[in-house]
Amino acid sequence: MIVEMKTGATQHQIEDVVQRAKSLGFSVQLNVGTDKTVIAILGSNTGQISTDLFAVLPGVEGVTRIMKPYKLASREFKPKDTIVKVGDIEIGRERIVIMAGPCAVENKKQLEEATRIVQSAGAAVLRGGAFKPRTSPFSFQGLEQTGLELLAEMKQKYSIPVVTEVVDPHDVELVARYADIIQVGARNMQNFALLTELGHIKHPVLLKRGFSNTVTEWLTAADYLLAGGNSQVILCERGIRTFEDTTRFSLDIGSIPVVKKFSHLPLIVDPSHAAGHYSLVPAIAKAAIAAGADGLLIEVHPKPKEALVDGLQSLTPSDFTRLMKELKAIAQAIGRYI
Ligand code: PEP
Ligand code: MN
Repeated sequence: MIVEMKTGATQHQIEDVVQRAKSLGFSVQLNVGTDKTVIAILGSNTGQISTDLFAVLPGVEGVTRIMKPYKLASREFKPKDTIVKVGDIEIGRERIVIMAGPCAVENKKQLEEATRIVQSAGAAVLRGGAFKPRTSPFSFQGLEQTGLELLAEMKQKYSIPVVTEVVDPHDVELVARYADIIQVGARNMQNFALLTELGHIKHPVLLKRGFSNTVTEWLTAADYLLAGGNSQVILCERGIRTFEDTTRFSLDIGSIPVVKKFSHLPLIVDPSHAAGHYSLVPAIAKAAIAAGADGLLIEVHPKPKEALVDGLQSLTPSDFTRLMKELKAIAQAIGRYI
């Protein structure tokens, strides 16, 4: 952390900064220039303390971070890639893992048709929301426990693992009884009570990026899970809110190499929520794989026109099957497979 003193800061003010740093267990290096003094605060944990501790002191012009605020999710902390295991599926290796299914579990017929379609097209994991975080309280909120039971039924019958969302810390235990991977939605990325609860279990957690959050905030949120003892964290980029309104969200394709550079955690991409429209999903999905994503989370509905949630961005069975063929070719081109 670098503390820049104001021009004309007194020796006493400089000494206050040095004392504060030392009291926190850090060492300091002073750089006394002709106009200004710059103080480097050194120590392995400077990323974990607030810059405000120094910024409030008299005579301080500004404070700049050098260390990242996240630690456990960083590659510096763990240089080797984390591989998340879901049964015999491994996320983060050469195989690109496709998770697909409806936005929400609606009924048995819909879920079973979706399961058959996505599995026969080559998806490794079935997605389906039982608890839906809806913007309006009047929208369909999901089938809740009934939805979880239907997912478990498909898992049994078709031997396919399931990913589903939890929105309330009190439901973690319930969802964990049914799900193989527990999803934290974009709206809950900084729900620290939820993250803390999920840190205490062993299930893999799919942590979506909040649509107004930076990559640094996202990786810092992942630290909550890792700090609790849950090492099975999968990141999911799903687009961020920008001034652009022709897509539902702007898929931050750049975050894929950025996350790969700064973190050891596997990363998948959800092209459906980024696109907002079925016609845009395939191109975004292909770009994500080409850019280095370890998998995809795609919404597929047997009859998108009848979907209760996100029908417009859901792929039809034939669109999904076609996309899977194209994705296989892209995977092969970059030395991976589906
Ligand atoms: C979802 O996956 O259905 C969902 C609600 O996604 P997000 O949290 O990214 O909006
Ligand atoms: Mn959805």
